[in-house]
Amino acid sequence: MNGVNEIRSTFLDYFRQNGHEVVASSPLVPHNDPTLMFTNAGMVPFKNVFTGLESRPYSTATTAQKCVRAGGKHNDLDNVGYTARHHTFFEMMGNFSFGDYFKERAISLAWNLITKEFALPKDKLLVTVYHEDDEAFDLWKKIAGLPEERIIRIATSDNFWSMGDTGPCGPCSEIFFDHGDHIWGGPPGSPEEDGDRFIEIWNLVFMQYEQISADRRENLPRPSIDTGMGLERVAAVLQGKHDNYDIDLFRNLIAASVDLTGVKAEGEHRASHRVIADHLRSSAFLIADGVLPSNEGRGYVLRRIMRRAMRHAELLGAREPVLYKLLPVLVGEMGRAYPELHRAEALISETLKLEESRFRKTLDRGLTLLDEASRELEKGDSLDGETAFKLYDTYGFPLDLTQDALRARGIHVDLSGFQDAMHRQRAEARAHWQGSGDKATETIWFELGEKHEATEFLGYDTEKAEGITL
Ligand code: ATP
Ligand code: MG
Ligand code: MG
Ligand code: MG
Repeated sequence: MNGVNEIRSTFLDYFRQNGHEVVASSPLVPHNDPTLMFTNAGMVPFKNVFTGLESRPYSTATTAQKCVRAGGKHNDLDNVGYTARHHTFFEMMGNFSFGDYFKERAISLAWNLITKEFALPKDKLLVTVYHEDDEAFDLWKKIAGLPEERIIRIATSDNFWSMGDTGPCGPCSEIFFDHGDHIWGGPPGSPEEDGDRFIEIWNLVFMQYEQISADRRENLPRPSIDTGMGLERVAAVLQGKHDNYDIDLFRNLIAASVDLTGVKAEGEHRASHRVIADHLRSSAFLIADGVLPSNEGRGYVLRRIMRRAMRHAELLGAREPVLYKLLPVLVGEMGRAYPELHRAEALISETLKLEESRFRKTLDRGLTLLDEASRELEKGDSLDGETAFKLYDTYGFPLDLTQDALRARGIHVDLSGFQDAMHRQRAEARAHWQGSGDKATETIWFELGEKHEATEFLGYDTEKAEGITL
C-alpha cells in the first residue's frame, strides 16, 4: 500500500529503526518565533536546538511536519492550481542530526530509503550539490554509484542554505525524480528547470558553518543535518503519478468537490477543483492550530486563502457555502494522523461556513464589477489600481484574489495605482474628518488607523518579517 498514511509511517519507522527519536509535528503557528508567520519547514521547531540555545534528550530525530507556505519568503499560493508540485499546506518529512552524524550517513540513509524501502528506480534519480561541495559530489558517486552527469553542481542559493544573515548555514543537496520526457521541463541548472519534468523530492542540508558576520564564516565544531522531503511529492512518485493532485488523498478530495458541484475536474475547471482541495486543507489545519480569519497578520493570510477558494467554488457554479461540506472528507483522510482535525472539526466547520456566507454577500457584485472593468482588457494589459482598490475596500477582495482572477487572461493589476488609491482614500478620510477640534487626539487616531492598515497590508508580502528557509 502506497497511500500517504502508509508512506508517512514507512518514513518515520525507517528513521526510528535507524536510531532517530520520532517527534510529533509542531503547530503551524511557531511559538517563540515572532519573525515567522507559519511553520514552513521541518527544521523550524528545532531552530534553537541547531543553534545550541536549547538541548534535547536525543541527538537525532525524525518528523512529519505540517507546513504552510502562503506568505513571506516561501509563498507558493500563486503556484497552486498551476504547477503539479506545490500546495499551500503540505507535510515535510525529515530526519535531523544535532551534531551527531553528518554528510556521509545522511546521504547513505537517504539513498537507502528511496532505492530500497521505496524501491525507486535509480536511473530516474538525479541529485544536485553546491558547486564547491566536492565532498558531497564524491559521496554521491561512492554511495549511490550515480554517474557524474547525474550529480549536478549548482552555484546558486538553491544549494546553499542559511538560517538568516548570521547563524548556522551550509551547502545542500537535492534529490530529483525524472517523470519522463513527455513532460515539459529540464534538469536543475538548465533553462527549463522550472518545468515539472524533474521534480525535487528531497532536500538534504549540511549545516557545517556558522556565519559570524557578513564576511566571517567559521566551521561548526559539530556539524548538523536537516532534511526535508515532501510527502505528497514522494507519494505521487510511488503511486505512479506525475502530479501531486493525482495522489489518493487529493483524488478523494477532488472527487468530493466534483460530486458537490456537479462539475467535472476537466479543462478550465481543473484548476478550480485543485485550489479548493488545497485551500480547504490549509484553512482547516490553520484553524485547528488557532488561527481565525481576520484583517491582519496570520488571520489575513487565512482569509485570503479561504476567499480564493470561494471564488473558485463560485466559478464552479456554487451559489451557497460549500467548503464546510467538504471538511468531513478531509477529516476522514487525515484525522487519524492529525487528531487536532477531529478535535476542532466543529470550529473549523463553523468558521468556514460563516466566512463563506459573509463573503458571498459581496463576491457576486465584486465579480460583476471586475468583469465590467476588465472586459476590454487584453493579454499584457493592466487593470487600473482604482478598481482593484474598490474591490479590496468595498467588496472584500484581497489583492491576490483579483490578481488570480485575471491571471488566466494574462492581465496584471496596476500595483502602484492600487497603493495610490489606498493612500488617497486615507488622505481624504483625514481631510473630511469633522472631528472634535482636539488636534492631538485626531492625529493619534489617524496615525493609529494608518498603522493598522499598514499591518493589514503586510499580509500580502511579509518577506521582511521572515528569516527562515529550508
Ligand atoms: P521547489 O523548488 O519545488 O519549490 P523548494 O526547494 O522550495 O521546492 P524546499 O524548501 O527545499 O523546497 O523544501 C523541502 C521539500 O519540501 C522539497 O524538496 C519538496 O519535496 C517539499 N516542498 C516544498 N515546497 C512544497 C510545496 N509548496 N508543496 C509541496 N511540497 C513542497
Ligand atoms: Mg519552492
Ligand atoms: Mg527547489
Ligand atoms: Mg529545495
